Amino acid sequence: MTDTIFGKIIRREIPADIVHEDEHCLAFRDIAPQAPTHILVIPKKPIPRLSESGSEDHALLGHLLCMVKKIAAEAGLSNGYRVVINNGEDGGQTVDHLHLHILGGRSLQWPPG
Ligand code: AMP
Repeated sequence: MTDTIFGKIIRREIPADIVHEDEHCLAFRDIAPQAPTHILVIPKKPIPRLSESGSEDHALLGHLLCMVKKIAAEAGLSNGYRVVINNGEDGGQTVDHLHLHILGGRSLQWPPG
């Protein structure tokens, strides 16, 4: 697959405001936050999008969700938050490396545009 800006962040080739790292994933603050707290959680494995994950990724996907819960709690989002995965062109995905958005710190509207 082609490299992305998130691959460069994983390899520390470009800076990011990292809030969590472990063997399987990295979490950092979005460069263009859409809410007072906007954090991206990405697998270190370069899966382009959720729809291209495989059965071998089930444990990894579960780990990402567990880390979302932990990171949101550590960020103080006790009043709630939203988790978003944009998938593909119609989903509005702009970076081809799977990522989970954590959005919080304000009341979010529904439905999204
Ligand atoms: P998506 O539109 O779901 O693909 O989300 C990609 C997100 O990556 C957007 O919210 C961007 O603001 C964010 N983003 C792009 N480049 C960077 C970067 N260098 N550091 C942090 N966030 C970034």
